[in-house]
Amino acid sequence: MTDKKFAPGIERTFAMVKPDGVQRGLIGEIIARLEKRGLKVVALKMVKPSIEHIDEHYPKDDKWIARLGNKGFTVFDEQGISRKEAMGTEDEFEAGKQVRGWLVDYLVSAPVVPMVIEGVQAIEMVRKIVGSTLPSKADIGTIRGDFSTDSPLAANLTKRPIRNLVHCSETQEEAEHEIAHWFSADEVYEFERSDHAAMF
Ligand code: UDP
Ligand code: MG
Repeated sequence: MTDKKFAPGIERTFAMVKPDGVQRGLIGEIIARLEKRGLKVVALKMVKPSIEHIDEHYPKDDKWIARLGNKGFTVFDEQGISRKEAMGTEDEFEAGKQVRGWLVDYLVSAPVVPMVIEGVQAIEMVRKIVGSTLPSKADIGTIRGDFSTDSPLAANLTKRPIRNLVHCSETQEEAEHEIAHWFSADEVYEFERSDHAAMF
């Protein structure tokens, strides 16, 4: 979100260490990578969210759900694995509904660490630092590329979501929704980072 009170090009985005990141002791590593890039953590907490809270966190529209189902299908198609065998269906919407359900169940299974990140083109920058959704496609040097090896097939066969450590907003619309969903206005802080005087 580009807000008038920020300098041009400065955005806020939402990121969250998922249960696997918390349970593996990677909270500090994940935050450090964002901070070292020059991005500012302006809100942060640890919570064990309710089902309802996570259900409202992820989009519910048919297009988003079909896109979710399609992500795994791209890998099954590439590897010559039958969509039906992997997901029990060839329909991307039906597959997406299953993945979304597993995702919601997983995210309430243990604490998570939501945060708001502010900086130059923060939405795109954080996506780049986090890396591709599918660990096999995530570049080395990204959080997912360096610390995760899960796959849609391994995950789907045991009816769970891909464990890829971090969630982060993909668009300005997602960022605005997610920041407001997880933090009240007075939980998001404004402060100066001293190194920014040298950086900008
Ligand atoms: N996911 C999954 N199987 C898939 C696609 C996605 O388990 O085939 C999970 C994965 O944990 C991912 C989350 O659903 O992080 C949300 O998917 P999205 O496409 O929004 O990816 P992200 O924005 O997290 O990179
Ligand atoms: Mg997403």
